[in-house]
Amino acid sequence: MAKDIQIASVKILEGVPLDRYSNYRIGGPARYFCDATNEEEIRAAVLFAREQKLPLFILGGGTNLLISDKGFQGVILKSSLMQLEAQGETVSVGAGVMVADLLKFTIEHSLSGLEWAGGLPGTVGGAVRGNAGAFRGEIKDRILSVESFDIQTLETISRDNVACKFGYRSSIFKEKDGREIILSAKIRLEKGDAAKIAAAIQEKINYRLERHPMEYPNIGSTFKNVDLNLVPKIWRDAVAKVVKVDPFPVVPTAYLISEAGLRGTQHGGAMVSQKHPNFIVNLGNATAADVEYLIGAVKERVYEKYGIRLEEEIQRV
Ligand SMILES: Cc1cc2nc3c(=O)[nH]c(=O)nc-3n(C[C@H](O)[C@H](O)[C@H](O)COP(=O)(O)OP(=O)(O)OC[C@H]3O[C@@H](n4cnc5c(N)ncnc54)[C@H](O)[C@@H]3O)c2cc1C
Repeated sequence: MAKDIQIASVKILEGVPLDRYSNYRIGGPARYFCDATNEEEIRAAVLFAREQKLPLFILGGGTNLLISDKGFQGVILKSSLMQLEAQGETVSVGAGVMVADLLKFTIEHSLSGLEWAGGLPGTVGGAVRGNAGAFRGEIKDRILSVESFDIQTLETISRDNVACKFGYRSSIFKEKDGREIILSAKIRLEKGDAAKIAAAIQEKINYRLERHPMEYPNIGSTFKNVDLNLVPKIWRDAVAKVVKVDPFPVVPTAYLISEAGLRGTQHGGAMVSQKHPNFIVNLGNATAADVEYLIGAVKERVYEKYGIRLEEEIQRV
């Protein structure tokens, strides 16, 4: 029978179903699961994984994760560091804070600069790791510094913006592939008008509600948009009408998937969204295998038609 284990100040749970932690509502159980609310608990969970010789995976809001039907044979460490405070125009925010709560805080404190993130799901930790972005904004534009915990050296590291090596949906934390747990970030904003900030955030939320298939569980865009430079020359004229700058000239992958005739393609309980074909939605009883099948099918068909290799934006566990 599953039991809870108390290690130092932290409780480790055994056999926790992960579907409830994924926005997809898909995924088998974690062998161990720990919800850490401070650095000491993170350290204890990391040491537990080390002693057990088990891999560790950091979980944020689960809005970008395709979790295997088999679950995870290691320790899932949910990062729930929740501090949130402003000193003038600088905000210190814990990695576990939901972006939506950070945005509410910016409205309450009349701080402008993150309005583009209206409706962006997930935590600050997840957003920093993947340099989340939308509407020409990216989290990197506002980051002063990031604190992280190295699971090998057990040291806390502080990096300024440049040292975080942010790129399109990437950062040094992503490159290091789970070696560092983001603890907190310092964000630089500027004084603005609360009502205007709230209205700009709401506008983005409304835009998303209209275009994204929010009626089904999903994990956002499956694939990255395609850098225009990577589009074969013979297709450049055909795609010119859909190119957008976000944050550099890209061809929306939703367009390529739609033109490849895949809109609405279904496999098991998963479907390429009719509303936004870069989303693969869970119609209710999808398995990770159903989603994986569709990911493979989309990659194949888009490559056949356009000679473009799609790159996944989602993370697999
Ligand atoms: C409807 C919808 C719309 C979306 N729109 C956008 C969009 O416009 N732009 C965009 O960029 N993304 C978008 N996404 C994707 C997703 O919301 C973002 O990638 C988000 O930043 C992920 O955060 P999370 O906390 O949910 O991370 P999770 O999904 O939990 O994890 C994602 C990755 O980050 C790592 N991670 C999480 N927390 C930490 C931490 N503290 N330290 C180190 N690593 C960590 C995880 O290990 C994992 O590899 C969308 C998703 C949905 C469902």
